[in-house]
Amino acid sequence: MLLEAPLLEAPLLEAPLLEAPLLEAKDVTVAYGGIGAVHGVSLAVAPGTITTVIGPNGAGKTSLLGALMGVVRSGGSVRFDGVEVAALPIEARVRMGLCLVPETRALFATMSVAENLELGFFRLRSLGRVERARAMDEVFALFPRLAERRRQAAGTLSGGERQMLAMGRALMARPRLLMLDEPSLGLAPLIVREIFAIIVRLRAAGSSILLVEQNARAALEVADTAYVLEGGLVTLSGPARKMAGDKRVVETYLGLAESET
Ligand code: ATP
Repeated sequence: MLLEAPLLEAPLLEAPLLEAPLLEAKDVTVAYGGIGAVHGVSLAVAPGTITTVIGPNGAGKTSLLGALMGVVRSGGSVRFDGVEVAALPIEARVRMGLCLVPETRALFATMSVAENLELGFFRLRSLGRVERARAMDEVFALFPRLAERRRQAAGTLSGGERQMLAMGRALMARPRLLMLDEPSLGLAPLIVREIFAIIVRLRAAGSSILLVEQNARAALEVADTAYVLEGGLVTLSGPARKMAGDKRVVETYLGLAESET
């Protein structure tokens, strides 16, 4: 009789093993001066996928990214590649391969495109000149517009080019998880399409991406998994494709035109 117990569990062992998430956040909270902005958010990013967090202004998207990166004080658990990083400072998380491209893009306006890119390389400063040149060539291959403007001051770039430079600088560090805070912000639809096509190319090359967006339509088109954040809470989550067809998401975020078709 005793021998039967493990046999009963055998089918479970045959179930496909789900790949461990690269990033797993549990019950993350952020508060500013006692006022909560993120109220216990849990999410996971599987390796080699695009996970998106969509939500309106003030939903807590930037605060959530800040908590994951360690730039704002937060509660809860953040595991990166199986390691608890919630208590680690930002520098340690960067060294482990977490990288955030902030909404502001945080470029050095008077420095050239190439100089801004060089700054992104610091995580791998142990590597030599050849590797640095190779990393920059890869960024230029991904963003030919940057290659043409390598000597131009970052402050004189267009909005789209600035976003490309911010992403390129992040990629110079060869991050293991690229977190993008509203890359479409303030950009014309054509440029948004260009940026999102690059995000898809990055995934095809094996990158893992956490994409925070107000532009739900564009984000759901490219993402594998999606979370809807409202008032600091995840109110909906699931496969992005399925969510793009969810009546509530369509009506709230994608506009009525979509639901009529
Ligand atoms: P948006 O899309 O407008 O950037 P968001 O979804 O990224 O919004 P957050 O920027 O995280 O949302 O803001 C969530 C809430 O936290 C808002 O009510 C905001 O006013 C508040 N908040 C954000 N940063 C701070 C701060 N440094 N000090 C005080 N309150 C803040």
